[in-house]
Amino acid sequence: MLIRVNEITSWLTDIFATAGCPNEEACLIAVHLVDADASGHPSHGIVRVPRYIDYIHAGTVRPVCAYKTLVDSETLCLIDGQYSFGQVLGHHVVNRAENMCQKNGLGIIALRNAGHLGRIGGWAELLADKGLISIHFVTVAGSRIVAPFGGKQARISTAPVAIGVPHQAGDNETQHFILDFATSRVAEGKILVSQKTGSTLPADAMVDETGADSKIPKTIYGATATTDVPDPRAGKGAIQTFGQHKGSGLGLACELLAGALTGAGTNACDRPFCNGMLSIILDPEKLNTDDQIAAEISDFITSIRETSPRKPDQPVLIPGDPERAKRAVANRQGIELNATIAAQLKAISDGLGVSVPDIVPS
Ligand code: NAD
Repeated sequence: MLIRVNEITSWLTDIFATAGCPNEEACLIAVHLVDADASGHPSHGIVRVPRYIDYIHAGTVRPVCAYKTLVDSETLCLIDGQYSFGQVLGHHVVNRAENMCQKNGLGIIALRNAGHLGRIGGWAELLADKGLISIHFVTVAGSRIVAPFGGKQARISTAPVAIGVPHQAGDNETQHFILDFATSRVAEGKILVSQKTGSTLPADAMVDETGADSKIPKTIYGATATTDVPDPRAGKGAIQTFGQHKGSGLGLACELLAGALTGAGTNACDRPFCNGMLSIILDPEKLNTDDQIAAEISDFITSIRETSPRKPDQPVLIPGDPERAKRAVANRQGIELNATIAAQLKAISDGLGVSVPDIVPS
């Protein structure tokens, strides 16, 4: 079923607000989740709601944001998110970075103990909208679900990396470069979506306990695969990294930079679930001595887009293009809401006394 972006956003806002989040924070969580679906990453969108509500009930995430700033210098900042929602803390990082960059042209922000930060590219996009370049390394403490290159046991998290470079395509049009991916072969959320909807995964998405490639979600979810909230650590297998030793190396770097350095902790041992993020944010204008950066970025992006494609119907894109194209369609036509997920949202809503949009079958 297709549901309009504003309708699903206000439904999710009501769910989180009734579950205990302040209205404004509930709205930030809903907007970020819905935008993940709209931009083609449902793995980090609406499908997460049952898990998030479970976290609130279990007390593993704070419904009301609270954080402590532990290091607060002009260019370097360490924030303890105290297990508040990542979608709310992410906005704090964006706003803080903007202030730091206005003064110094640079802000390095280490964030520990954040709830799930969702689609990391969303933070790079918000910063690029402010004209800022950003690089984000992320780890998921307490989520040892990926095998390092050559291994068949889970040792690291899906550890995403995002890089955003602002690019103004016309007076009113931004076409930022937004590179944003997990260092795992697939994001865990894509395996969750496959378990819930039957969508197909790459044959080498996971490695099973014998060392063979696997695309069956049960490899990581084990006996919890068919429950409402599957546990990605309950199976005997692991997700593989992308790009062999190169993706694996980047994943290990995320554990070191976003886990060890921020204090969120690495996956060397069992920990409470949280995201750690090291974000490096720069104002390109502060380096723009010859007033050439924007033109150079523009020429480069044009030259990439003008590359002769291997398949005539598949033009060469820059990272960020697929999300922009999908978001434009979602804003026109609505978002595909899978029946299983709709039924779960309805059950949660019935439990909380939240009204359900008419479009959802009773
Ligand atoms: P993916 O494999 O879909 O890759 C997405 C990236 O590739 C984007 O930058 C996109 O613009 C670019 N891209 C896609 N097709 C392209 C093409 N044809 N040409 C050029 N560029 C192209 O991403 P993924 O690894 O599945 O990750 C999905 C999401 O999961 C990301 O948003 C990531 O931040 C998120 N994630 C979050 C966590 C967390 O703990 N918060 C953990 C893991 C992943």
